[in-house]
Amino acid sequence: MSDKKAIKIKTQKKQQTNWKKFWKLGAEEFNTQFFGVTEEGELTIREGNYIYNLNDIVKKYGTPTEIVFPFILEERLEDLHDYFLAYMKIGGYKGKFYYHYPMKVNQNKEFIMPLISEGAHMEVGSVNELWLVKKLWEGEKFYSKLRVLCNGPKTDVYIKLIEELRLKNLSIIPIIEDEHELERLVKYKGDVGIRVNLDTKADTHWDKKVDRFGFFSKELLDLPKMRNLKLLHYHIGSQITSGKSVLEPIEEAMNLYIKLQKNQPSLDTLDIGGGFGIPYEKKPFYNAKKMSEKIVKLLKKMSDEAGIRHPNLAVEWGRYIVAPAQITIYRVIAEKPIPKANAKSWYVIDGSFMNDLLDTWAIHQKWHVVPVNNANTRAFKSVWLAGSSCDSDDKYTAGGNYVLMPKLKKGEPQYLAFFDTGAYQDALASHHCLLSSPAKLIAQDGNIKIARKRESAESISKLFGWSNGDHK
Ligand SMILES: *Cc1c(COP(=O)(O)O)cnc(C)c1O
Repeated sequence: MSDKKAIKIKTQKKQQTNWKKFWKLGAEEFNTQFFGVTEEGELTIREGNYIYNLNDIVKKYGTPTEIVFPFILEERLEDLHDYFLAYMKIGGYKGKFYYHYPMKVNQNKEFIMPLISEGAHMEVGSVNELWLVKKLWEGEKFYSKLRVLCNGPKTDVYIKLIEELRLKNLSIIPIIEDEHELERLVKYKGDVGIRVNLDTKADTHWDKKVDRFGFFSKELLDLPKMRNLKLLHYHIGSQITSGKSVLEPIEEAMNLYIKLQKNQPSLDTLDIGGGFGIPYEKKPFYNAKKMSEKIVKLLKKMSDEAGIRHPNLAVEWGRYIVAPAQITIYRVIAEKPIPKANAKSWYVIDGSFMNDLLDTWAIHQKWHVVPVNNANTRAFKSVWLAGSSCDSDDKYTAGGNYVLMPKLKKGEPQYLAFFDTGAYQDALASHHCLLSSPAKLIAQDGNIKIARKRESAESISKLFGWSNGDHK
């Protein structure tokens, strides 16, 4: 090659934009390490040495569509186990580590099964979630040491089911949340846990000034001795935004654990609940590797100083494990100008934020949004996204800012992907304007499976009492 030619190639390379970087893809700190863009500007995801082209997938299966990646669930849980077990080993920590998957975060079978096979224990928040565990326990061959923690109001049917499963040899631990439950469970023969309402306030939308869950520390210290009390639990909220707010409640709870153990010698487990966050906004964020080290060190130091056994540690981080394992893809169906705002146009999508990604509306959740095709364009538009329902609240504006998307090309569909949609959105989903829920695809081992078809008018109408034939 002549020098001149080589130089020309070199300068051309320099001018090329790194689209992966531009769209914040391929970065572990943002949980996008598996994503990339092709030379044609199409979004891809890599499972081992297999590559899925997401543009091809939505062209084939249509939109709106959710795509679940079980391998991401498996990797995240495996890594989390590895971090805690490694730091416990390095530090000479004697307690055990238990990961309990909080089922409410995503109850889809396609999420639960990979997590259980990766070693997750369970945490349920209602009798209906426990009913699913019962189905699994009866139907599949489970490791007999699977542990289930039961939170949520203990109604009569709930307690009955807990008893039933205990008698069937499931390791099931109801968590007592108030005086009323304490009375109800006083005769319960199995192990129990108890929930504390901590004083520490954490940086999260959910840590309310007045919390209604759990006992105050003082109440717990005044309890008579309970021979089956094994576990002290707290859950302070979700999407905690700072590492400090992860650690401070642990410190308060561990102080209580140490005092409580004097009167309750059967206590052997500290359960720090959920709340670990996700970098949805693609800004620097604390991470599980560093935090697991800090948590193990803190618990070791505090128990050594107090001269007690290192407690077993139970962790219920749900969002952290499952959010990055699903994306939601929409197609832009119309563009409308916005006369005076941070964004120039509305892009109307073929789904609904109020229905499919309800936290957009409920808590003004921010999302990472990336084009599925034309991601290598140089022609951008600052847009706000509008949902297909008739509600003016059905929109995504990135908090009044804007979303950068490719300009629409005549005759070519534009798709866009919302990342990290695996946590909470499914169970919150609704049917405003009777719009159809997205289809749900599973991408696994190089295959695409349809887990749930996009809803039809007929299937939705049934949910509203229009059973077959009524409307004929
Ligand atoms: C909701 C909940 C969790 C999960 O919280 P994340 O923020 O998703 O980690 C864990 N434990 C309890 C008791 C919960 O109510």
